[in-house]
Amino acid sequence: MEKRVSEIFGSMVFNDDVMRERLPREVYKSLTKTIATGRTIDKSVADVVANAMKDWAIEKGATHYTHWFQPLTGVTAEKHDSFIAPVGNCKVVMEFSGKELIKGESDASSFPSGGLRATFEARGYTAWDPASYAFVKDGTLYIPTAFCSYTGEALDTKTPLLRSMDAISNQGLRLLRILGDTTCRRLTTTVGAEQEYFIIDKELYDLRKDLRFTGRTLFGAPAPKGQEMEDHYFGPIKPRIAAYMADLDEALWTLGINSKTKHNEAAPAQHELAPIYATTNTAVDHNLLIMEYMKKIAERHGLVCLLHEKPFEGVNGSGKHNNWSLITDEGKNLLDAGKTPAENIKFLLILAAIIKAVDDYQDLMRISVAYAGNDHRLGGGEAPPAIVSIFLGEELEQIIRAIIDGKTYEGVRAGVMDLGIPTIPTFRKDTTDRNRTSPFAFTGNKFEFRMLGSSQNIAMPNIVLNTTVAESFRQFADALEGAENLDTAITELLRQTFATHERIIFDGNGYAKEWTEEAARRGLLNLPTSVDAFKCFNAPKNVEMFARHGVMSKIEIDSREEILFENYAKTVNIEALTMIEMASRDIIPAVSAYLADLASAVSAKQSVLPDLSCKAEKEILRRLSILNDRAFTELEMLKSVDRKAAAVCGMAEKAEAYRDLVLPAMTALRSTVDEMETLTSSEYWPLPTYGDLMFNV
Ligand code: ADP
Ligand code: MG
Repeated sequence: MEKRVSEIFGSMVFNDDVMRERLPREVYKSLTKTIATGRTIDKSVADVVANAMKDWAIEKGATHYTHWFQPLTGVTAEKHDSFIAPVGNCKVVMEFSGKELIKGESDASSFPSGGLRATFEARGYTAWDPASYAFVKDGTLYIPTAFCSYTGEALDTKTPLLRSMDAISNQGLRLLRILGDTTCRRLTTTVGAEQEYFIIDKELYDLRKDLRFTGRTLFGAPAPKGQEMEDHYFGPIKPRIAAYMADLDEALWTLGINSKTKHNEAAPAQHELAPIYATTNTAVDHNLLIMEYMKKIAERHGLVCLLHEKPFEGVNGSGKHNNWSLITDEGKNLLDAGKTPAENIKFLLILAAIIKAVDDYQDLMRISVAYAGNDHRLGGGEAPPAIVSIFLGEELEQIIRAIIDGKTYEGVRAGVMDLGIPTIPTFRKDTTDRNRTSPFAFTGNKFEFRMLGSSQNIAMPNIVLNTTVAESFRQFADALEGAENLDTAITELLRQTFATHERIIFDGNGYAKEWTEEAARRGLLNLPTSVDAFKCFNAPKNVEMFARHGVMSKIEIDSREEILFENYAKTVNIEALTMIEMASRDIIPAVSAYLADLASAVSAKQSVLPDLSCKAEKEILRRLSILNDRAFTELEMLKSVDRKAAAVCGMAEKAEAYRDLVLPAMTALRSTVDEMETLTSSEYWPLPTYGDLMFNV
């Protein structure tokens, strides 16, 4: 197996090894330089690369190529063109030019553009991202690309992501130069996204309209057993799941995706996959492919992979942990504290920059993980709260305290202090336990952003992290450039930054009610729902910040905000309509049928034996009838508020109406139906139960 894995790994990827082998030396050098420095590619180089790519892809069985992009729908998009070019005499040759590699034209009019479409031409362009490797999948050469409007506005998630990676590199380099680093040429952010998911049986899935239309169960009484025994977490993997995971790993390895860790998660039927980290744009592409393959391979095993944040009430939902760090082109992880005070200074400045970024832009952090699905999870006592805070661990917190107070850090051995800046202690990386409830936790040599939902594209959280940290770097570089005494300036900058932003640091229990009150006292933002969060997106401070670093213009932000509101409203609307259909056509009729049979049973029994009380049947009949009537009233209510919400003008107002009118009506109907489920004979109940769904694989 070992040999086989190393043979198949990356075998369908046009990666560095393939490029070195197949490209002329000069072209290879030029291309890798482009990738390393983030510059634009030379046209003549592109032609040679395209040709080599095509020959390689054909050997791998490809007949088509596609510019693979990430429109604002949240999923990926592709349009396939074949390589064939006619050469007269009814003959064709296989061709692929540099022009076709670099740029594609695509009709943008059917992709969400949040109002950009009204003002700009429908045409859109896809542009090759040479830093994310092309690959062959199902007979097609996939070229990762960015997607822009004719006038250059980003219509996707990759364009601002690449821009944000440039921003943090540019500003970070300024800071490194001030600290005496003369050799580093580029800073890159690295990301490892741990992905949670549920696996259930396909036959049962097919019987549930809610799962098919919305990805989550809209009805369902709790199973007798949930996750309370904690026997699933890291438990032995069942054979059917193990076979699925093995197939999944193999498919991912072929595409050069470093799928590394797999285990059972907290809830029954829940699992996790973690890859080895990669450069951010590659990590984003890989996460999208991981999600795609999780679903595709499940089908092959008669299973369904649920990526929704909250498929089942009452057990944990699924999230995604975005592990994030910064690395130099010389291979140094800048979030590794290092051993000497000089390295520590660099580390502390970067740490301060990140703390400042998260505090200054709590709203953007929250927005980057906000959508209807994730609202069922955040703050739910299983996932981080909707309030953004940072966990650093005891040692770092003490160091920061000491810097604020201008005191010596006590954990330091004597004698080390006269090196470097007197007030900057030497220390090794933190070793304290992790705080599972923290939204943003330092875990040794990286930060772990834990508010992400399992189904989301991880681009936006990383755009926010990269750009806001770039902004901190910019302010730091401005403050330190030309300082008379650099040591004093750094000490003062650290003291000031830590003092100002200390409020965002919290190592207590984020699930506790007291934290909400404490956070309010500290003046931290609390944006409980997505709709609250979206409203902050185009605040002037955010618009200025994104514009300053060339990551997103006002017009791009406004269009994204519009899409966020729109998606929220659409999601809740689909859920409401699904509930209406299930309640009207499946659930209420099933309960009525059961009631009718109960009633005839009572009269039949009593006609034979008039003295029988038929207490059980009568009591069930009474209770269920009352509930069925109530369900009917609540169903009518849901229909009426859904119509009302649909008629509201203005995207923000509409989203608000869905949140304030429709969601509560859905909750009311669900609670009645779930109670009916517990009283109705399983023979009559029209849906697979939670027990069936979660314990049947
Ligand atoms: P755990 O958090 O479960 O102990 P690890 O710390 O090994 O596991 O890693 C969790 C995730 O963090 C993995 O996906 C891993 O690749 C990623 N990771 C590790 N180091 C970095 C880094 N420097 N930058 C980004 N992600 C990283
Ligand atoms: Mg983790």
